[in-house]
Amino acid sequence: MNVTDLKPGHTIYGNKGNVWSGTAHIYKSGTGNLCGTPALATNWAAIEGVQEVGCKGCLEKYDIEKSFDLVYEGVKLNSKPLTEAQADKEISSIIMNYGYRPAKVEIF
Ligand SMILES: [Zn+2]
Repeated sequence: MNVTDLKPGHTIYGNKGNVWSGTAHIYKSGTGNLCGTPALATNWAAIEGVQEVGCKGCLEKYDIEKSFDLVYEGVKLNSKPLTEAQADKEISSIIMNYGYRPAKVEIF
């Protein structure tokens, strides 16, 4: 994944080893690297302008992390962002209880 495709609040992080081996992490502001690797040393990936996230663990977590809003006729129905599983569950429940289908919109 290219660093320019990351959602707001996410940046690239890598020590010198990550830069050399192309395994830079995704650093989430306020949380740390998504894969759990501590981000303690200087961020060489940022200094060197590395563009490509290479850490498999971070990419997997980032994928799972996708979040969604439910929207119906231009109105957002949820107060907090939902995971895809939560969104699907909500949609089924709304169809069953209210008889309409809200749209699932990915939040970037
Ligand atoms: Zn990582």
